[in-house]
Amino acid sequence: MKSLTCQCCGLPFSPKMRGTNRDKSPNSDYCLDCFRDGEFRDHHLTIQDMEKKLLDMARHHDEISIEEAHQTIKILPDLKRWKMTHIL
Ligand SMILES: [Zn+2]
Repeated sequence: MKSLTCQCCGLPFSPKMRGTNRDKSPNSDYCLDCFRDGEFRDHHLTIQDMEKKLLDMARHHDEISIEEAHQTIKILPDLKRWKMTHIL
């Protein structure tokens, strides 16, 4: 199994698209689009924003299909980033 699932956006990504920690080591939990240099690229993102983003991606960018967007939205609450929301 070579594709990983990003624990923020819920999308699969390849090992070379892994996010990076502050010390530049790869972080297999998040993709490079979401996590870079030890920080989330969008700190203010909420799970609702993420849902909207996935639907936008499906509608306007053809990166994923609408079905994939809906599948991904379903798993968002189980992902590490969104599970933590209430434990601040
Ligand atoms: Zn991601």
